[in-house]
Amino acid sequence: MEILNLLQGQDHIAKQFREHIWQYNNALAMTSLGCKVDDSVNRNGAGPYVFKVHGKLSHKAGSLLPPEGQTPLYSQLYIYDGAEALDYRMGHTANHNLHRGTMQTLQDTLFNHHLGVQLYKQALELTSNMPPDQQCKIALRFDESTDRRQYNLPTAAAANEIAVILSGDGDQPQDAHDIILYHCHGEPLQRISEMHPLYPSLHYVLLFPTGQLGWHKRMLCADADDAPAPAAADDEDAVENNNQVSRKWRYVTQAEWFRYRLFPRVDESLHLFMAGKLLQEFIVDAWAITEQSRLTWVKLNQAKLRVYHCQGIADAIAADPTVDTANLGQPIILPSSFSGSTHNMIQHCQDTLAINRYYHGADLFLTATANPNWPEIKAELLPGQKPSDRPDLIVRVFHAKMKEMLNDIHKDGIMGRTVARVWTIEFQKRGLPHMHMIIFFHPDAKLRTPEEIDSLLSAEFPDEEKHPELFELVKSVMVHTPCGSEHNNPNAPCIEKEKCTKNFPKLFQDQTVVTTDSYAKLCRRDTGKKFKIGQGDSEREVDNRWVVPYCPWLLWKCRCHINVESIASIKAIKYIYKYVYKGHDRTTMQFGTCQDEAQLYLDARYLSGCESGWHIYEFHMHEESPSVTHLQVHLEGEDLISWDEYEAPDAGDVIKRAVSRNTKLTAYFKENEKYPEARNLLYQDFPSKFV
Ligand SMILES: [Zn+2]
Repeated sequence: MEILNLLQGQDHIAKQFREHIWQYNNALAMTSLGCKVDDSVNRNGAGPYVFKVHGKLSHKAGSLLPPEGQTPLYSQLYIYDGAEALDYRMGHTANHNLHRGTMQTLQDTLFNHHLGVQLYKQALELTSNMPPDQQCKIALRFDESTDRRQYNLPTAAAANEIAVILSGDGDQPQDAHDIILYHCHGEPLQRISEMHPLYPSLHYVLLFPTGQLGWHKRMLCADADDAPAPAAADDEDAVENNNQVSRKWRYVTQAEWFRYRLFPRVDESLHLFMAGKLLQEFIVDAWAITEQSRLTWVKLNQAKLRVYHCQGIADAIAADPTVDTANLGQPIILPSSFSGSTHNMIQHCQDTLAINRYYHGADLFLTATANPNWPEIKAELLPGQKPSDRPDLIVRVFHAKMKEMLNDIHKDGIMGRTVARVWTIEFQKRGLPHMHMIIFFHPDAKLRTPEEIDSLLSAEFPDEEKHPELFELVKSVMVHTPCGSEHNNPNAPCIEKEKCTKNFPKLFQDQTVVTTDSYAKLCRRDTGKKFKIGQGDSEREVDNRWVVPYCPWLLWKCRCHINVESIASIKAIKYIYKYVYKGHDRTTMQFGTCQDEAQLYLDARYLSGCESGWHIYEFHMHEESPSVTHLQVHLEGEDLISWDEYEAPDAGDVIKRAVSRNTKLTAYFKENEKYPEARNLLYQDFPSKFV
């Protein structure tokens, strides 16, 4: 097909098309993308293009006819004949740099093949006898019963599954998931439901050029029974409570569908993976709406999550004996099981402190960053691609590498026997994934002397002749690029108030010392040797003062930036928590005063392609080993209780129930009364002896 030629071609026109594919898609899309695009990362021009959004994301559809005297946009263009529509598209100021011939090819292809165009034409025919200024509503309704798992087959069948319905004067019940179009201008842009199977293809017309149907909530898994699945009780429940429902009725969840799409297959066209910037946008969109669906679920299921201090309820009843329990508690909370929520972050932080306490201090702090130039990534790129065109590959390779590294460190003990670990994944400003890990050694393997530290870590260039391979690796990924105005690099990401936040260049140091400072100071000898890094204008001279501490074996094995620091004092731990969880700062600031945590989370959210891909593939964000049992600590009468508002217990019952039950803490007190040996145990150590 013509689009495939453009995606694969190596000639000038095809390359120009791929460079501007995002613009072409926008010019041809039938719905617009409603979101804030964060372009600050792309502004200085250095580095590959990153698509990043901030806050909520939605798709919007306009009216069938443009307002009187204004230029038609989006779907409105498809009702014009080819040449006229092309003039409108090319005449738009945003499109002046695009190629007319390419636009024509794309427009003709979509005009002839895209299901959306047919539906719009049908809608227009239905309303053709109406005067242009008469308003009416047209719904594109999907008939779920027609779907029999052949969702990969393109249009022939699909056309029968979407009906164009002309609503009368509100006499027809409206399905919340219909796509609503208005006949003429006057209503604001309509947000289209992400539950509609046309959601992806109306916007990503170049990825789904025949209007292929996407996910819908009654999609059956391939191995589901043929018997029709019982209707799910409640729409939102059916979709969002995806785990339960999919296991029960074997519906494909929204996240599963996107995950399926984001694996290349031998028997399918690879055009999705050739789309570069458009693929980035598609991945971000996919995760953005999946997460929004989950937030909606959280909002609709507050009853199950509602918590309140016992004492608080008693106070509320004292103030007003007729109080309705449904109105108590925080308005909207994000539970700690929601990855990325404030409660989730606080819980991880406390777990880490518990592990730190139990093992008498951590030993190493490691930060690993994905290397887009890994040969494993380059080998899988399609002809002419750059790593940044494939966030899907970057995160999959990073995930595999980190799994291997965890095995090396904790199973094979390449640095010494370990007993515990805590790690989290974070995404850089440019979107590349990082792993932060705290490593706890067995008492026999702890690094106690400078010699022991030197045997594992280094902060110097290795000998160029004896270890040429390692030398090149250090030079390419373990050097802090000289920063600040004195090195002609005033806008380096590490610079804040004209100072390097990472304290480079470090001082020369004759030997390793373990101080009361947070990290051990590694040996950096002044050998007089200087090396050149970078090319052309960004070429700079560096010596041992600019080397980031690393572990030679890990660097050689993983071939990416892996900073390893030896923790010398408890101060480091504080710093690490702050560092590891800094990404959440913006959401924690308003913690406690916030009325709607779900909304706050959404407003503060930034998403890039890599991060979205990581979530869609369901890779973990955090792990701690061994696991930590959570013990509540509370004052008498201030333990957390929860209740289901649909059971509508009266407030007095809630209190009675709370008073009669044990919390872990009250049980601990009771056991202390009963068993003298329990009195020697601290509350934290209690679960390890008494269960
Ligand atoms: Zn710096």
